[in-house]
This record gives sequence, C-alpha cells and structure tokens, in this order.
Amino acid sequence: MSEAVIRQIVRIDEELCTGCGACVSPCAEGAIVIVDGKAKVVREELCDGAGFCLGVCPTGALAIETREAVPFDHEAAEEHMGAAKTYIPQRCFRCGTDEDHRPLLPVRVEGTSTWVCTSCLPALIHG
Ligand code: SF4
Repeated sequence: MSEAVIRQIVRIDEELCTGCGACVSPCAEGAIVIVDGKAKVVREELCDGAGFCLGVCPTGALAIETREAVPFDHEAAEEHMGAAKTYIPQRCFRCGTDEDHRPLLPVRVEGTSTWVCTSCLPALIHG
C-alpha cells in the first residue's frame, strides 16, 4: 500500500447520516458505501476529495477535510467505474436531460438535493 499523504478527502458525520444512500451514486469512483445503515468511505484510495457527493446529502453529513490518508488511486477508481453495477444515471430536474448529453451539477432547491444541467443553471440562478 502507498504511504499516506496529506490531502483532501470526504468526511462523514455519522450522527447526521441517515443512510439514505443518495451520496453513493454521485461518487463515480465508488468510495462511498452504506454499511449498517451509515455511509462510509471504506476504501480511502477511491476518494479523490472532489466533493461531488456533498451537494446531494439532505442532512449536511458530508464535508471535505484535509488530513493524512492513502493517496487517491486513479487506476483503482477507473477499474471500479468500469465494473460498477450500481451506478444510477441522474437527470436535470428542470429539463430532464441526462448526463450523457449535458454536464449536471448538484444543487439544493427548496430544501431538496437534486441535479441541474449547465443549460438550466443560469435560469435557476437569475430567475
Ligand atoms: S446522502 Fe448524506 S444522509 Fe444520505 S447516506 Fe449519504 S451521507 Fe448519509
């Protein structure tokens, strides 16, 4: 195993986590899994610390912290992405386009965590 480095990585507050699983699919690298009803990063080398999972958590249980961890493993993450069977495609809540056709971003709208495409985002911001 690689030597630990100081880097950004997701932190999960187990007190706030309800185990809803909404963060599992946005993590394309497969770093987050639900164990005994709580989200966990069971393989730190799969978390790139990008934080795409943060916006979808309805309880604010996810954050990014800087601490000692094993380095992000690009090869292991790509291997997982190729083999992933649990990936759930997301759609823009406004126009319904999927991520194969336009980039999607996680947003909070009226208390709900959802996804918006880059075409609909300006209208969401400016009304
Ligand atoms: S989205 Fe938030 S509450 Fe739901 S499983 Fe993930 S960390 Fe827990």
